[in-house]
This record gives sequence, structure tokens and C-alpha cells, in this order.
Amino acid sequence: MPARLDEKLEPIYQDVLHRNPGENEFHQAVHEVLETLGPVLVKYPEFAEHKVIQRICEPERQIIFRVPWQDDQGETHINRAFRVEFNSALGPYKGGMRFHPSVYLGIVKFLGFEQIFKNALTGLPIGGGKGGSDFDPKGRSDSEIMRFCQSLMTELYRHLGEYTDVPAGDIGVGEREIGYLFGQYKRITNRYESGILTGKGLGWGGSCARREATGFGTVHFTQEMLKARNDSLEGKTVVVSGSGNVAIYAMEMARKLGARIIACSDSSGFIVDEQGIDLDLVKRIKEVERRRISAYAQEKSNAHYVADGNIWKTPCDVALPCATQNELTGKDAKTLVENGCIAVAEGANMPTTPEGIRLFQDAGIAYGPGKAANAGGVATSALEMQQNASRDSWGFDYTANRLEEIMVNIHRNCHDTADEFGSPGNYVVGANIVGFLKVSEAMVAMGLI
Ligand code: GLU
Repeated sequence: MPARLDEKLEPIYQDVLHRNPGENEFHQAVHEVLETLGPVLVKYPEFAEHKVIQRICEPERQIIFRVPWQDDQGETHINRAFRVEFNSALGPYKGGMRFHPSVYLGIVKFLGFEQIFKNALTGLPIGGGKGGSDFDPKGRSDSEIMRFCQSLMTELYRHLGEYTDVPAGDIGVGEREIGYLFGQYKRITNRYESGILTGKGLGWGGSCARREATGFGTVHFTQEMLKARNDSLEGKTVVVSGSGNVAIYAMEMARKLGARIIACSDSSGFIVDEQGIDLDLVKRIKEVERRRISAYAQEKSNAHYVADGNIWKTPCDVALPCATQNELTGKDAKTLVENGCIAVAEGANMPTTPEGIRLFQDAGIAYGPGKAANAGGVATSALEMQQNASRDSWGFDYTANRLEEIMVNIHRNCHDTADEFGSPGNYVVGANIVGFLKVSEAMVAMGLI
């Protein structure tokens, strides 16, 4: 049972529980935000008067649809897909699509809810939304993935638009899937509208640095948190969970800033390489060959693979959870703190359980919540939208520099706002309040929407 909230906020939370039964991840994400809003309502009572929080907790629109498709043997499968258009006060709905068997409405809503605040934090004109399907891409051929994407887009296309809703990737959705989705949109509508999806390939409307952005951004944020404590990543040991797009580029930037990455994982286990993870090998295994991370230890004799193990038991200075929600529990947080970890930044969405967050905060270590620490991905998606709208394309360094500036700004805003609201060093408080104020001010200005 989560702690009781401020007396104005508890009834709002109870109402969310009542109206969204069984959606545990959504409840968790809402609770985490409401926990920090008490002082905001004291300072700005008008937000309570306008029922802004109640409105933010209710998506503007929720779309659920059937996705029928055939596998390579001709057998028919039926999946369910979602697009939750959560909040458009700051811009068109923006957020990824996740393909994973665990996807149900509660997951899409938690992600969509977090996205509202994350996107607001970027300072760019994007609202919050999220989508996905319970389709499991693991072991599927390219043609099966293509047929699934085509079937999904055959419904989704009517809800998209550069001024309406702009999906991108998330777990299970990368450049390949975005390609199939974009191709089907183009075919159905007979329009080359680059701005309806982000995460596109570089040759057909994508942005330089989008692929790297989430991971790079998470490490920029980590570096800023350490700088605020007169420290840096130089010489630190880093453990990164996951080995997808976010994890790979977090490792790349951490290495560039002088850290040594000693472990990474996938959903089956993790590898440890004390000499420092060989990123070219990880990229080949994951991006080109699409194999499991265990292959790393088969190819590199000094590394070892731990099946079903817990990566957080590996002692490190910095931990970057870049896999999935609730992957880092209270017990893991305790182990990390006991092993001397000084900073945690979330490349994934909501990877730390509420108990884990509390433990990090009580221990006084630098903790960067996903909303702030992984906002670099969606920020660069917004840069991709800018390039598409102006039919332009920018170079890698220019885009990567803008990403870094955005992350430095997000860090500064969260840091200063936490101070202002009496919780110095608490980036959860900072991120939630900065995001909330931006969205709420726009909502109040636009009347009862
Ligand atoms: N799925 C990513 C996120 O969680 C990126 C979304 C986007 O680029 O629209 O923020």
C-alpha cells in the first residue's frame, strides 16, 4: 500500500483507482506524481479550483483495436493494440509504441501519463501520448513483423497527423518497425507526410542522433547530477541494465565521458566484463544479428554470463536501469547503496519501484527519474519533427549538441525547482513540478478542455 497523500490529493488518487481498476502501473505512476504536488497546490490554489489534476489523470482519448495478421505458416493471430492520447495542452500527442506481450491498457496509460510531464520538461511543443500492442516480436521473421505493422497501421493511420498524434518507437519498436509502419501509412493515404512518425531512417526523413538520443541524454543527465556534487563520470564503474537501443548508447556516451561499463543485460540474464564492455560486439550481436546477450560471453573469453541473475548485485559507482518498468526493487536499491553506488539515472520508464526510490533518496545518492533522465529520446523526436516541418535535415553534431543543451536545461530546471519547493537534490520533486506547472498553466489558459 502506498503512503497516504495530502488531503486534497488522496481523493483524486482514490478516484483514479476506482475508475481504472486493475491498472497497477498506471496507479503507481499517478501516485508518484501526486506525492510531490502538495506544495504546488498551496502556492497555486487555482489549479485545484480548475480541477487540473483530475483532468490530467483522465486521457483525452483512448483507442483500442484488433490487429489480425498471418504468420509465415499461414496461421492467423489476433493481437490487441492501443493508442492513448493523453494530453495535448502543449502540442500534438507524442510518445512511442511498445510491442511486448506484457502490454495492456494499464501499461500504455502509465507510459502515456509519464510522457505528458517528460515532454513538458523538454521545453518543446509536444503533448503526451503512448501506444502499443501485446504482440511479441521475439523470434518473428521480418515478413511477420511487416505484416503485423501493416495491419496495425491500417487502423492507426486515421488517428495520426503531424498536428494530431505522432508515434515513435519504444520497447520492441525500432527503425525496422517504424519503416513498415511509415510505408503502410504512405500507401493508405497516398501522402508522404514525414511528420506523422519519428524514429525514421536517416535516408527517409529521420534525424541524426535520434537513435542515440535516449541513451546519450540519460548519461548527460547523470553527468549533470554528478557535476552538481562536484564530481563526474570520469573513472567511474557503470552497470547498465538492458542491451537495446537505450542501453547501447548510454554505454557509448558513458565510455566517452571516461567511465568503464562493466555489465549489461537482456531479459534472460546479464554479462560482466571487468575490462569494459566491448560495444562494437554488443552492437553486432543486438543490432545486426538480433541475438541474445549471452552470445557476448561465448565470443569473449574474459567475460562471463549469468543466466537469470540479478545484475544489480554487481558493485558499481553508477547504475543506469535501461530495460523496463519495476526492474529495480527495494532490495536491489539496498544492495546498490550498500555496494557504494553514488548515482542512478533511469534510461527506462519507471524502472525503480517506489520502495527503491525511497531507499535511494534516504541514502542521499543522486537519483534521476526517467521523466527527466530519459527525456532526450522524445526531445530529439521533437527535433526530427522540426526538421520534417521545414523539409530540412541537420548534421549529427548540431543535433547532438542541441540534445545535450536540452538535457543540461532539464537538469537545471529540475534541480532549481526542487530547491525552490524545499526539497534540495530531489529530482523527483523537481521533474514532477516543472512538468506539471507547464502543462497546467497551458490548460488553465485554454479554458475547460
Ligand atoms: N518511447 C520513448 C519515450 O519513452 C520515445 C518517444 C518518442 O520519441 O516519441 O520517451
